[in-house]
Amino acid sequence: MSNDSDETGYAPDWAPHDANDAFAVRIKLGIEKPSPKHPDPSETARKRSHLTVDDYVKGVLANDKMVLARAITLIESNSQDHYEQARQVLQQLLPYSGNSLRVGITGVPGAGKSTLIEALGCHLIQLGHKVAVLAVDPSSTITRGSILGDKTRMEKLARQPDCFIRPSPSGGTLGGVTRKSRETILLCEAAGYDVILVETVGVGQSEITVRSMVDFFLLVMISGAGDELQGIKKGVIELADALAVNKADGQNVTKAQLACNEYASALKYLTPPTPGWESKAMTCSALNGDKIPEIWQMIKSFEKATKESGFFENRRHNQSLDWVYAMIENYLKESFFSNSQVKHYLGPLKHRIVKEEILPTDAAEKLLNIYFSSRR
Ligand code: GDP
Repeated sequence: MSNDSDETGYAPDWAPHDANDAFAVRIKLGIEKPSPKHPDPSETARKRSHLTVDDYVKGVLANDKMVLARAITLIESNSQDHYEQARQVLQQLLPYSGNSLRVGITGVPGAGKSTLIEALGCHLIQLGHKVAVLAVDPSSTITRGSILGDKTRMEKLARQPDCFIRPSPSGGTLGGVTRKSRETILLCEAAGYDVILVETVGVGQSEITVRSMVDFFLLVMISGAGDELQGIKKGVIELADALAVNKADGQNVTKAQLACNEYASALKYLTPPTPGWESKAMTCSALNGDKIPEIWQMIKSFEKATKESGFFENRRHNQSLDWVYAMIENYLKESFFSNSQVKHYLGPLKHRIVKEEILPTDAAEKLLNIYFSSRR
């Protein structure tokens, strides 16, 4: 190596000794390489496109929100490849789940559910809780765009470090959405969220589904001409542990109070969904935050009462069993109707049933025989 070295480089040995600046053979020294940073292993793991079961489990338990979100995506996946991994992740996380209060919130679009969840969620975080918000929105399976997911919602709550918001799972039947939502609850609990708010639109089947996965069920209502008893007709009120007549503010206070009184007296004639707890009706203003702490207080008294009576645990046990039965039912239905032999015979049989050439019971028996013998 030449001794002719300075910070711009050096001339190699084979360069003529009398080479001057015009002789363009100098080897650049280059710049110093930055010392390799030792990255945080969990950081690299979550950036990897493929996570192992262990990565998921550790990430969720450490409440790494990105890993939690990816774990939920994994369990929501309809791909057969993901199924086994999802199952293992859930199985390992199951012992860490269950330690939360699960609150379902329903109401027609516009009732103020997301405003209420934002107000309640922020209140809970102030009290030191960790809040997960999940949405069950079966409408997304039909419209492919969800009612709950479309709006920019709960911006203030979403910014809180102790909050995790997951929009509705997309695709699949209501049964599929249910399975995913239940498992999402378990994942959030394993990540340390101690209050899970499950939102759904009160327009049909979904509130029954949500009722079957939560401890407390809140129906958000609004006062309006003649619709006070609408919820009663639809039977939704019978599922609720409490009704919150929202938008009790400004000009609307008296109207809201009147509606609330009407609901309260109607509730007296209905069987409450939770034995030992009389369903309550109250007014609130999600926009101003009025009565939001009272709503939480009521939920806490509900928790205390049902835990003391043993109903809390009882309901959870029954919910788990119902979930197993629902999954079996789903599996059998899917297996039956996707069976090639069943598909083959179903068309012609339908024709014969309609023409009354065969009794429905006989047709059902025939199809079941076809199904079972095809599986032997
Ligand atoms: P969601 O469809 O049930 O989730 O309803 P949103 O929370 O999106 O609320 C629908 C509309 O009602 C929005 O314009 C809200 O600002 C408004 N809103 C929600 N809560 C209140 C309330 O307590 N008082 C008033 N005056 N407006 C409210």
